[in-house]
Amino acid sequence: MATAGKVIKCQAAVAWEPNKPLVMEEIEVAPPQTHEIRIKVVATGVCHTDLYHLFEGKHKDGFPCVMGHEGAGIVESVGSGVTNFKPGDKVIPLFISQCGQCRFCKNPKTNLCEKGWASDRYDVMSESDTRFTCKGKKILQFMGTSTFSEYTVVNEIAVAKIHPSAPLNKVCLLGCGVATGYGAAINTAKVEPGSTCAVFGLGAVGLAAVMGCKNAGAKRIIAVDINPAKYEKAKVFGATEFVNPKDHNKPISQVLSEMTSGGVDFSLECVGNVAVMRSALESCVKGWGVSVLVGWTDMDDFAARPIQLIAGRTWKGSLFGGFKSKDAVPKLVNEYLEKKVKLDEFVTHNMPLAQVNSAIDLMKTGDCIRSVLSVSPQ
Ligand code: NAD
Ligand code: ZN
Repeated sequence: MATAGKVIKCQAAVAWEPNKPLVMEEIEVAPPQTHEIRIKVVATGVCHTDLYHLFEGKHKDGFPCVMGHEGAGIVESVGSGVTNFKPGDKVIPLFISQCGQCRFCKNPKTNLCEKGWASDRYDVMSESDTRFTCKGKKILQFMGTSTFSEYTVVNEIAVAKIHPSAPLNKVCLLGCGVATGYGAAINTAKVEPGSTCAVFGLGAVGLAAVMGCKNAGAKRIIAVDINPAKYEKAKVFGATEFVNPKDHNKPISQVLSEMTSGGVDFSLECVGNVAVMRSALESCVKGWGVSVLVGWTDMDDFAARPIQLIAGRTWKGSLFGGFKSKDAVPKLVNEYLEKKVKLDEFVTHNMPLAQVNSAIDLMKTGDCIRSVLSVSPQ
């Protein structure tokens, strides 16, 4: 590669400050250091967690940055010590690392890893170190990935090598949203055959949770969203019933309880709203109901009455669907290629990276499921 070992100048969408549109800029991307991989990003989805950082979390130390964490690309060059990747490999950068060595990686009960940005910087949502500069300023790498850039540099512990025939403009969704919702149902909730489930929020994360419930054998899947435009899509993934909280003047947990003789077996919150988290918990049946938090927020405390848990409900959270990232993502890509996992149906819009602000607006107004941006030509 003619570019190996050199700084690459390329286009990226820079978030200079919160609440402002991203700006297309020429940035400099340094060569990969030891154990790092420089990736030509081919495609990226836009996930609500990008919007969270820009409009809600807005951590003062989290800007300027390049956002995007749901991408797929091709290895451009590798740093010293990298033996399992070579230029030309198709890869997905991972916002959750898997070093394989730390006590979390060694424990089958969790997919957390001590080595990545996520170990202690959930609030800032980026690593302190970065390979990006623009106009002489250090630009942070959001969630360690920064897929809204033609090139990015990621440590090999946070890169998954995937099947060479995988279409990058589809499998990018396994870098976050689809793996997250699907795994939350299968790994975290551990949805059982014949069960009744409720999924709150029908973005890509929630729809992937619906797909997970269906693949796990759930009999009834109640899809809950305040935007009825999402119901048709939810049917495609296996939802059997639809509830719009706005159609009822009683708490949604009461509506679900009446529909299910006492509550659902499993509920998944895929909105990122503490009031909805409480409703999702209260919608579960006493005795054995399990409620999983998938929506992302670090802004507010949440509340519930202790009796909810005393009566036998379980409240859990799920990060990246509980998948150990490097192990699971290549397998999920293969499951897509074998048609066991749907991806195409999530993509409602395709546009170039330069239109990223339109993709952000579409998500804000609820007029898309996933917009996939083409970043570098393949
Ligand atoms: P999205 O914006 O596409 O979808 C959110 C959906 O929730 C929309 O359809 C919206 O209409 C619906 N909604 C809003 N308020 C509601 C309410 N009160 N009741 C019911 N439905 C409501 O977002 P997404 O990309 O699918 O992400 C969903 C959430 O998952 C976000 O909070 C995101 O940050 C989070 N997330 C978490 C992880 C993780 O690892 N835990 C990973 C990715 C995303
Ligand atoms: Zn995401």
